[in-house]
Amino acid sequence: MHEQTIQDPVSAFVGRCREHGLKVTPQRLAIYKALLKLQVHPSADAVYRKVAEEYPTISFDTVNRTLLTFADIGVVETVESHSGVRRYETDLAPHHHLHCVKCGEIIDFCDSGLDEVEVPARIREEYHVLGKRVVIRGICPKCAAKDALEKEKSGSVENRKTATP
Ligand SMILES: [Zn+2]
Ligand SMILES: [Zn+2]
Repeated sequence: MHEQTIQDPVSAFVGRCREHGLKVTPQRLAIYKALLKLQVHPSADAVYRKVAEEYPTISFDTVNRTLLTFADIGVVETVESHSGVRRYETDLAPHHHLHCVKCGEIIDFCDSGLDEVEVPARIREEYHVLGKRVVIRGICPKCAAKDALEKEKSGSVENRKTATP
């Protein structure tokens, strides 16, 4: 987690929408607040389910389109995801990601050493670089523990199999 910026995220959001001529409707505000309330990097589906608690008549399509608009004007970021489901990010401060390839969880972490990694010159020449982030893929402690448990179980089954003639 990062230290809170002086401006609270909701007024920053409202300011950003005004800048881009996007009307701050109650629904849009509810969608943004749901994003903030959810754990980091929610999918559109998770945001939809959260917003529907307050606005039961809202459609998934509205939520999805609104999120894409938010990404367009830069109030949220889309997050790379190996599962193919687009995930959203409200934390626009520089940070890096840990991806669990088993459960799909994306965890934020900060590291000033990684922040300083230079974008190679040839990339900077060809690309208009908007940002950089280090993504570490792996298996989270929860999934690793589950794996170990499952292996242990199947291991004991195998042992029994070999024990019985
Ligand atoms: Zn995991
Ligand atoms: Zn993040």
